[in-house]
Amino acid sequence: MKRIVIKVGSHVLSDENSISQSRIDNLCEFLSDLSSRFEVILVSSGAISAGQAKLDLPRTSVVNKQILSSLGQPYLMEIYSNSLLKHGKMAAQILLTAGDFDSRKITHHAKNVINGLLKNKILPIINENDSTGISEIVYGDNDRLSSAVAYYFDADLLVILSDIDGYYTADPSLDKTATIRSVVTNIDQSELTKNSQTGSKHGTGGITTKLLAADFLMQNGKDMFLASGFDLSVAREFLLNSNQIGGTIFKGKK
Ligand code: ADP
Repeated sequence: MKRIVIKVGSHVLSDENSISQSRIDNLCEFLSDLSSRFEVILVSSGAISAGQAKLDLPRTSVVNKQILSSLGQPYLMEIYSNSLLKHGKMAAQILLTAGDFDSRKITHHAKNVINGLLKNKILPIINENDSTGISEIVYGDNDRLSSAVAYYFDADLLVILSDIDGYYTADPSLDKTATIRSVVTNIDQSELTKNSQTGSKHGTGGITTKLLAADFLMQNGKDMFLASGFDLSVAREFLLNSNQIGGTIFKGKK
């Protein structure tokens, strides 16, 4: 069975200062449909937004974000668990930092758990451990973490569900003539070093961290698909019917 990693960004999951129940429900229905065909691992942001639903603390400093994240993470898992239960699925939480992948021993331990959870038909939900690692809350929104998860846990594909529906020829919020690049086989170094703006106050990475994630996987022979997290029909059609009707596929070097 093919293994896939689905990454969902904060903006997709957030509604003002809370979590969007309807988007989580749509996502969980999608994940449940996917799990009959694939081994599915979810990388989910959104803990800080979930925390803000509980505590009125501004996300103005790193430590405030860490406080909101540690408060919100169990709440986020509760929302996921309740929604997945409607589809007869259970979820498990795994918190990792990018640095964990520098240690072969830690990576091996984590992979054993992932393999065991998948064997038991449980959905692993991974997030950055924000109390010990802060790189993704400062810059990245789990984009780079999800590429490490896909690579080190032997996934065939990473799917990033974003507030943007693909990789455009230029920033579509600034250039109305920009068009989606449907297939990307090479990313230019200059695109990886651009200082891009995030599309929302909830996101942190912008397009650059998505390109860094894609580039890392492509260099390692793996594919990445970028599509909208608001309308899941493109990702659904791509994964369940092998039909690309939108989004961007980044093709790994084979
Ligand atoms: P998410 O919250 O889903 O992780 P972000 O908001 O961090 O996503 O990043 C996506 C944003 O990057 C888009 O909304 C868009 O404004 C911006 N962007 C800049 N350049 C591009 C480009 N070439 N193609 C697509 N999006 C781009």
